[in-house]
Parts: sequence; C-alpha cells; structure tokens
Amino acid sequence: MDSPHLTTSRRSFLGQVSWGAAALALASRGGAQSGPAPRKLGIALIGLGGYSQGQLGPGLRVTQQCKLAGVVTGSREKGLQWAKDFGFPEKNVYSYDNMSRMADNPEIDIAYVVTPNSLHPEHTIAAAWAGKHVICEKPMANSVADCDAMLTACRVAGVKLSIGYRLHFEPHHQEMMRLARDPATGPFTRMNGGLAFPIRRRVWRVEKKMAGGGPLMDIGIYCVQAACMVAGIGSAGNAPIAITAREHRKTRPEFFIDVEEGIDWTMEFANGAKAEFTTSYETGIDRFRAEGANGWIEMAPAFGYGGFKVTTNQGPLNLPVPQSHQTFQMDDFAVCVRDNLATRVPGEMGRRDMMIIETIYKSAAAGGKRLEVTV
Ligand code: NAD
Repeated sequence: MDSPHLTTSRRSFLGQVSWGAAALALASRGGAQSGPAPRKLGIALIGLGGYSQGQLGPGLRVTQQCKLAGVVTGSREKGLQWAKDFGFPEKNVYSYDNMSRMADNPEIDIAYVVTPNSLHPEHTIAAAWAGKHVICEKPMANSVADCDAMLTACRVAGVKLSIGYRLHFEPHHQEMMRLARDPATGPFTRMNGGLAFPIRRRVWRVEKKMAGGGPLMDIGIYCVQAACMVAGIGSAGNAPIAITAREHRKTRPEFFIDVEEGIDWTMEFANGAKAEFTTSYETGIDRFRAEGANGWIEMAPAFGYGGFKVTTNQGPLNLPVPQSHQTFQMDDFAVCVRDNLATRVPGEMGRRDMMIIETIYKSAAAGGKRLEVTV
C-alpha cells in the first residue's frame, strides 16, 4: 500500500514480527526441513524509494530463507549506506547503468523490482538477462504487451517471475480465500469496497507516462486482486468475464492532467458473482466485503500493511498475525526458487490483472459500455 500513514516504523515492525507464524506459513512450502539450514538466497532490491525503505528493507532483516545481498540505485552514496546497514559487500551496490553486471555475482539469486511502474519491464528484463529470478512490484507493467515481453524474457532466461502481491501471504486474506471455498460460508457472489487516499503533491503516481494511469493502477488493483481471490480462488487463470466502468468527474483537472482522479467499476464472473468497486486519489476509503447465501466477510481496513479489522457472519476474525506479510512473501519466493516450486503469485497473474485494468479503462473511455474480458 502506498499511503504514507500506513508506513510501519522499523522499531514497531521488529517488535511485532511473530516467528511462530512465519515458521508455520513456510512449513507447507518446504521451509521446515531437517538437516543443515539451506543457504539463504540473496535478494537485490532495484530501487530504494519509499516501499524499499519502509517495508522491504525492514522485512529483509527478519526473513528466514533469503537476505538482502545487494541493491541497484541511482545514488551510490545511498547504496553504500545500505551495504553498511545490512552487511553486504560494497561491490554489490549497482547503478541502473551497470546492473547487468549482476550476472557475474553468485551472491544475488533474486532481483526485486521496486521502481516506478513504467520502469518495471526494463528492470525485470534486465534482471532476467542477468540470470536472476525476479519479483516485480504491482502493477506488473503499464500494458498487457509489456507484461508479455516480461513473461517471454523470463521464460527464455529460465528464471521465475513473481509479482509483489503481498496480501496472498496475509493471514486474514488467506482466511477469506478459505471461507470463499468452504461450502459452509461460500461461495461469495457479491463483493464491494474500495481503496482511496488523497494525493496533493505532484509525484510520478499522477503522471501517465510513469504510472500508466491514476489510482486504479496504484491502489484500485488491490480491489481487482481481492475480487479474483474470492471469485477465482486466487489462481492466475481466473478472470472476470465482463467489466463496466465509469470515471469520476474531475474536481482538480489541472492536477490530474492525463490520469483519472477516480473511477468506479463492476466485474462480472462466470459463476454469476459480481463485484463493485471504487478507487480515487481524492478521498479516503479502505474496505472490502464479500457475501453469499451462506455467509459474509468484511474487512475495514482491508488492504494496508497491518491493523486489519475483519468481521464475518460468525463474528470477528482475530487472527494472530505478524506485522510483515512481505517477509512471508519474500521467503516463500525464495523457497520456490530453491526447491523449483511454482509461486502462487506468478507473472501470469500480474498479466491477468493488467488485462482487467485495460478493460476497465476501455469501458470508462466508451462511456461505461459493458465489455467482455479476453485474458
Ligand atoms: P518511490 O517513488 O518512493 O520510489 C521509487 C524509486 O525508484 C526511487 O528510489 C527512485 O529513485 C527510483 N527511480 C529509478 N528510476 C527512476 C525514474 N526514472 N523516475 C523516478 N524514480 C526512479 O515509489 P515506491 O512507493 O517505492 O513505489 C515503487 C513501486 O513499488 C511502485 O511500482 C509501486 O506500485 C510499488 N509499491 C508497492 C507496494 C505494495 O504494498 N506492494 C507499496 C508501495 C509501492
């Protein structure tokens, strides 16, 4: 999540991580093995902005299966400070111009792309060519065509590609997926909610060239994901069959020049499920609800880094959770790489979501026309 008020301080983060829960989450993915502990895989963060500093760096201090082994940054000084703080060699500090040299560095197994959206294809493909497995932040790219290029590059290079869909590793969202599948509570056939926060300062997130769009690309994507988690039970193949969307009238057209200020959309799924959402950079919303004939679940807040408030038809859901699901996310991918397993958040899922987002924009541009989704 990108809202600054959700940033967790390193101190509170370290104080609240639950090792027991982390071990439990990984046990099912080969994390709990007898014999000598396998080597922790090395991760290089590409981009040391807000998310790397606030979430991924702190998360990598407590990962069990991987560790921070290098960085790619435009500021050598900053990179050297990270090397000192995390105890990796200065030679593992790369610039965007020389990151292809990671190919010669066996200490780096995985590159994690955390740059503005428009740079995801370039950095993912460069990392794949350097022979590194890749985690790419959401949204995967600014177009389906770019997603295809990234998938092809990773396939040809023989590396795995995963998307930073951290909520698949968050216990409340995992429980939501379980409830959706459980005949005692699911299926959930109606979903609604939204994610919104105000942006007042001019940043790359409101520039189409960099961000690919407005709040839909950045935060609306969480609602797209949640609906697919519930209706499609999380798999990459399941997409809605049709979409209808309407862009909000701009209250600040001089600020939101070539991106939407907000947008509402409806997703229809093949099983009859329907999901209605809103996203915006003008107001504050953080809510998701799914319901069916047998039960319901509601989360508010739903999409942040912690502090989830979750109720169901059976009462509140108070799961003991660690603060950082990013830690689980990165450890899980490390296990996938080490043991050659499939990631549950593959590049194909990122591509599916980009196809959905492109269809949302097309429907809005066509004045709210109902459009079929072709994945
Ligand atoms: P940010 O603006 O704070 O950082 C971006 C970084 O990219 C900076 O270090 C910047 O120096 C670097 N960069 C390299 N080339 C650049 C260029 N040409 N222009 C601008 N910056 C350049 O952004 P962020 O919040 O860290 O977001 C980075 C990515 O992570 C985005 O794709 C975003 O969607 C994603 N993100 C994901 C989550 C999540 O919860 N999964 C949360 C926040 C951000």
